[in-house]
Amino acid sequence: MNGPEIQIDFAPELRLFLPAERRQGRTCLLTDGASTLGHAIESLGVPLTEAGPLLVDGREVPVSHIPAAGESVEVRAVSRPQRVPGAPLRFLLDVHLGTLARRLRLLGVDAAYENEDLGDPALATLSAAERRVMLSRDRGLLRRREIWAGAYIYSDRPDDQLRDVLERFAPALAPWTRCTACNGGLGPADKESVQEQLEHGTQRSYDVFAQCTFCGRVYWRGAHHARLAAIVEDAVREFGDAAA
Ligand SMILES: [Zn+2]
Repeated sequence: MNGPEIQIDFAPELRLFLPAERRQGRTCLLTDGASTLGHAIESLGVPLTEAGPLLVDGREVPVSHIPAAGESVEVRAVSRPQRVPGAPLRFLLDVHLGTLARRLRLLGVDAAYENEDLGDPALATLSAAERRVMLSRDRGLLRRREIWAGAYIYSDRPDDQLRDVLERFAPALAPWTRCTACNGGLGPADKESVQEQLEHGTQRSYDVFAQCTFCGRVYWRGAHHARLAAIVEDAVREFGDAAA
């Protein structure tokens, strides 16, 4: 029952997804003669969200290509910055990426995230409904056909995750314009109108500068401000031209 045998050469940055014994150079694969190249790539563990151009004997083919015997396939990585046509660039993060979500919001990047685990089907549906790029470290989630677009998050460290997303998608940065708690937009706030929300010490010591137009949360330059400002400065220096 063996079908056509093909050779696949994965870009070095994609080899971490492969089984250990397939990570050295090109790998040999028996296909069933009916499944697509996209299926073959996924069957080796590589999310299609991470695959860029696919070349068969030097000629670019779509993921729907049915491999034939003896073909030599090259799978390149996605190009950076990656364009996601069809909708404004916005993201949806799975339940494990809360810190990354808050940092993206801090930079003004539209990053939907729920503290509770919605489950893979609901996340995929939401990605499609709102045309959001699904960010996840879960390869199973990224394989779901419904998702609008997706990207694997390679690191488990928030610093590296943020740099990865900013480098890969080059979103426009607009620091201090979005609520880190709910992703809503920030508007101006004056101290009098938000007084009841503030601790007495806060009222005395800090200047309120913004309020979320969605959840009402008030923002001021308080104890965490220096740490957040450092994150913003680093990101804007390296990736942004929209510095406030
Ligand atoms: Zn809010």
